[in-house]
Amino acid sequence: MIQGENRKLWLSIRRSLRGRCPNCGDARLFRAYLKQVDNCADCGEAWSEIRSDDAAPWLTILIVGHLMAPVMIHMIKHQYFEPWVSAAILIPIIVGLSLLILPFAKATFMAAIWALRANSS
Ligand SMILES: [Zn+2]
Repeated sequence: MIQGENRKLWLSIRRSLRGRCPNCGDARLFRAYLKQVDNCADCGEAWSEIRSDDAAPWLTILIVGHLMAPVMIHMIKHQYFEPWVSAAILIPIIVGLSLLILPFAKATFMAAIWALRANSS
């Protein structure tokens, strides 16, 4: 169902987190990993104009940092492994988590910008 003029923030974010258009919830929001579609294939909403810029990496770093900082501190404090082994374990996890969360963060901000009409200049 297309939202029209009355855009609901949380409905838009929920739809975007599924990778769908925040307006109609049917068509895909991304055509590649972080490349949004120019226009929705179903409702025609223009997504190329919505830019989340640095907000998505900021949210990703915030989440991954809060998830991994306690793990890193615990591993360093108790010295389970040599430092290079800890780094060899933690770095792929941190990079993987970041790559996993980033598209969801971008979709969240795109939906919020669209729903709040925050992209007008
Ligand atoms: Zn749509």
